[in-house]
Amino acid sequence: MAQNFDLIVIGEGISGLTCASHATRAGLKVATIESTLFGGLVLNVNELDGYPGAESGTNLASELMQSNADAGVTSLQEEVDAIKAKGGTFEVATKMGAYSARQVVIASGARLKKLGVPGEKEFEGKGVSSCADCDAPMYQNEEVIVVGGGDSALQEALVLAKFCSKVHIAHRGDKLRAQKHLVDHAGADPKISVMWKTTVEAILGGKMVEKVRVKRDGKSEDMACAGVFAYVGLEPNAAFAPQGIARDAGGNLVTNAAFETAVPGVYAIGAVRAGYSGLLRDAAVEAKAAADAVRKRLA
Ligand code: NAP
Repeated sequence: MAQNFDLIVIGEGISGLTCASHATRAGLKVATIESTLFGGLVLNVNELDGYPGAESGTNLASELMQSNADAGVTSLQEEVDAIKAKGGTFEVATKMGAYSARQVVIASGARLKKLGVPGEKEFEGKGVSSCADCDAPMYQNEEVIVVGGGDSALQEALVLAKFCSKVHIAHRGDKLRAQKHLVDHAGADPKISVMWKTTVEAILGGKMVEKVRVKRDGKSEDMACAGVFAYVGLEPNAAFAPQGIARDAGGNLVTNAAFETAVPGVYAIGAVRAGYSGLLRDAAVEAKAAADAVRKRLA
């Protein structure tokens, strides 16, 4: 027989873990389900922006996991396939079985988009990386290219600049969309420079990345570099969510102001949700609000 929970939270990123923590403290029987490693996108971020008190993404996620375990949250390492309404409750089906929940919070986050250019897949782990904090020391005194103009690109460029001789940011536009403090910080770093209206067409090399083909002002040229870090936005992990939940143009799940989707009893929070700000502190705010809403609904 399926195990029963008051609340199943899908995703063990910061929003999911925080939501489970609040719901458990409110006396609910809670499970979290995660298909990969707990922590979500912040796992690759050492210096968390605007989240005082946390030493690193890994540290914050580990502390939340441990305190949830101590509080009695059931953590399941499984991939969710579907959420089905069943006689006033929900069946959360995974690759390994099924669980029953009175309410469901989808906090499955998002993954980094790929550039989709020749060489990207071939050189993965051989110069193509998406984790500056993990890989930057391998590029000591080398030149690297960061692609994108958002918070991720700027934040990771700043990490790389601590090790690399030069960090070239290739941005397709003529204005960075990253937060001002990141833009200012990067602008003040002599190792970082921005190539405006520039796109990457291909990643080239032998055994390892040796250069990228960029296009600017309509002309293609090859630039020598040892590493390529693409931060061109996020894709939500929402394939398993019921079709009755509307998506925005980017595939993110639409909710009302109380974070409830069009399927009553199913909520969405954090990076999987349409309208999420992208700020970690807001993930925590959304998580608490959803836990409160669930608690009130089940009271
Ligand atoms: P993002 O904000 O969506 O920015 C993606 C960037 O990549 C944009 O500059 C975009 O250009 C560019 N881009 C998109 N597709 C491209 C392509 N095919 N080729 C070249 N460039 C392309 O993504 P993000 O920076 O990963 O951030 C995601 C969310 O997380 C945001 O909400 C962000 O605020 C948040 N975040 C916050 C922090 C922090 O608080 N410190 C850190 C990281 C991320 P255009 O500008 O021309 O559209």
